[in-house]
Amino acid sequence: MTSGNTDVAGHLINGSWSSAGVTDTSSNPARPAEPVGQFANGDSSTASDAVSAAADALSGWAATPFTVRAELLEAIGAEIDRNLDALTLLCTQEEGKTLAESRGEVQIAAETFRFQAALAKTSTEKVYPSRAPGETIRTVRGPLGVVGVITPWNFPVLIPAWKIAPALAAGNTVVWKPAEDTPVLSVELAKIMQSVGLPDGVLNLLLGDGVAGAALVNDHRVDGVTFTGSVPVGQSIRDAVTSRNGRVQLELGGHNPALVFDDADLDLAIPQLVSGAMGATGQKCTATRRVICTPGIYDQVVERMAAGVRELKVGDGQDPESAIGPLISPEAHAQVAQALDAAIAEGAEVVATTSQMPDSDGSFFTPTLLTGNRDLTIATEEVFGPISTVMQVDTDDEAFALANDTAFGLSAAVYTNDHWRIARALDTLQAGILKINAPTTGSEIYAPFGGEKASSGHAAREQGDTAVDFFTRTRTAYIRPGSVQPSA
Ligand code: NAD
Repeated sequence: MTSGNTDVAGHLINGSWSSAGVTDTSSNPARPAEPVGQFANGDSSTASDAVSAAADALSGWAATPFTVRAELLEAIGAEIDRNLDALTLLCTQEEGKTLAESRGEVQIAAETFRFQAALAKTSTEKVYPSRAPGETIRTVRGPLGVVGVITPWNFPVLIPAWKIAPALAAGNTVVWKPAEDTPVLSVELAKIMQSVGLPDGVLNLLLGDGVAGAALVNDHRVDGVTFTGSVPVGQSIRDAVTSRNGRVQLELGGHNPALVFDDADLDLAIPQLVSGAMGATGQKCTATRRVICTPGIYDQVVERMAAGVRELKVGDGQDPESAIGPLISPEAHAQVAQALDAAIAEGAEVVATTSQMPDSDGSFFTPTLLTGNRDLTIATEEVFGPISTVMQVDTDDEAFALANDTAFGLSAAVYTNDHWRIARALDTLQAGILKINAPTTGSEIYAPFGGEKASSGHAAREQGDTAVDFFTRTRTAYIRPGSVQPSA
């Protein structure tokens, strides 16, 4: 990994590193006594400097041949791969997820840069017919401009890659404001991106919390903001950016159902249901929050999921034996514990927990399987932790209705071999990601990703070949010959 220029992880602005702002400590959620590092908290003046750098660099980067931009993205992918071990370890130390989860995330982030580089070499412009002799009508694409990228802590390498790779590929300049819980990792990632030779100001890193984020969002020189995070913050960003007619892309929360019908193959479904609910300590926007079963299979699902949950070993992500790491912070632990207490008070039944918990003062939370019904608060509100609720319905109609009975619409899974149930699921489930005999979690970087209802905004989908759409503006050009048509 590249070496830092100070002991305090700082901002990257116009190619230079600075540690302006109040210094804070980033901690390891599994080992609170071991700080990961110190970092600087930017404020509105740091945000303004970062936007100025991005604005100044825009015309040069937009005019850079797309082949050169693509080569730099490929080089970023290669550098991420070269630093795989170091980034994996740092991701586990700062975010808490297991080494296997971190490693997979870093590898897919590298692949995202390569894939978006390859896409940047294909044309997305279109040609249209014209009734005027000799006229060509075609679209002309260009970069959106200065883009604010605001990311959460739960996928601190991959989500930035989803956004930054297509933004840079299309000729935009970027101010990236990562989550305040993973600043040291973000600095290392920015160093890697900068190390391949990006011109100064093309990628700027702004560390800090919501104060820095809000200053970035409210800067009128920012043409678009792409955000992944919580619903209230997403709504405030949408209001600020759209009020000046800027462009905004939002990926927010989820409350994802898995429907298990009587004919499901439980040898296939159970491991996916357990990992979908508990993997990454339940801190995935696509986590399986509800398991909805028809009567003939409900008891078996409860019994076999319970057995799976009891086998989970919770521990420090750096221990290769750990299947589940800690929650991100003591504050997150308190919130998840409070939501579990409330669910039990409302009548939820705890059917399984694991006893394999570490003796530690880290933010470890016991994975918990509940049974209950739609009236529980936890049945509709997102709790970002390793808790999932199994519910029984009487009919297929009730299963589909219950699946849709939440404000969210990110992902939904169905376990069945019945063609008609699959067809109905594809038609009626209100979710942007539909999984048939596959977990609610996980996505391919080659395909579009995004949700419906309160889970997403209405801009172009992230990832896949649609990712570039958010980061480009399209003009329609009518091109006619500059002289009168010669006679034949
Ligand atoms: P969060 O909204 O608290 O923070 C996300 C980012 O926004 C951070 O960088 C934070 O500093 C910044 N921020 C906070 N206040 C801001 C403000 N007023 N203006 C601008 N920026 C501000 O979310 P989180 O706790 O980091 O992430 C967890 C949430 O993210 C969950 O709800 C989860 O479902 C969601 N999430 C969604 C997806 C998806 O693709 N749909 C993926 C991952 C996480």
